[in-house]
Amino acid sequence: MPTYGYECGACGHQFEKFQSMSDKPVRKCPVCGKAKAKRQIHGGAGVLFKGAGFYQTDYRSQSYKASSEKDKPAASCSGDCKSCPDSRK
Ligand SMILES: [Zn+2]
Repeated sequence: MPTYGYECGACGHQFEKFQSMSDKPVRKCPVCGKAKAKRQIHGGAGVLFKGAGFYQTDYRSQSYKASSEKDKPAASCSGDCKSCPDSRK
């Protein structure tokens, strides 16, 4: 079942809907209630989620980076090896 992305032409709200190909496109915006929602081609997630999706991806990559930085010194050395960037003497 394809996922369709919608964008409201009235308030700009973006949302997703699981629908079969034969289902009627959603017209009503769940936020403002106006029949201004337009179905978009769900080809590139980056295009569809240029708003909220951007921050979500950004947040995920930041937390991933933080956890990998935290794990690295403990896993590879005790803190005073040559390859350790901030070796404590
Ligand atoms: Zn709306």
